Amino acid sequence: MEGQGPEQSVKSLTGDHMIPVRCFTCGKVVSSAWKEYKERIVEEDPKDVLDDLGIKRYCCRRMLLTHVELVDVMAPYQ
Ligand SMILES: [Zn+2]
Repeated sequence: MEGQGPEQSVKSLTGDHMIPVRCFTCGKVVSSAWKEYKERIVEEDPKDVLDDLGIKRYCCRRMLLTHVELVDVMAPYQ
């Protein structure tokens, strides 16, 4: 008796969408800028990148700035 169950690969959930879509404070969509921001801060000053991306309010900048620091930590909250 052999069962042939389809193998389902589990795709990794870690990817480009690890940031909330909108700023918690003002509701501005920040996820669209996240990918470019993440790539550019490797070589550029994060503050300059935020200016360039049009993320000018402090509440939104904080969303991206603080998020970078948290990515590597990934506190085990559920
Ligand atoms: Zn904001």
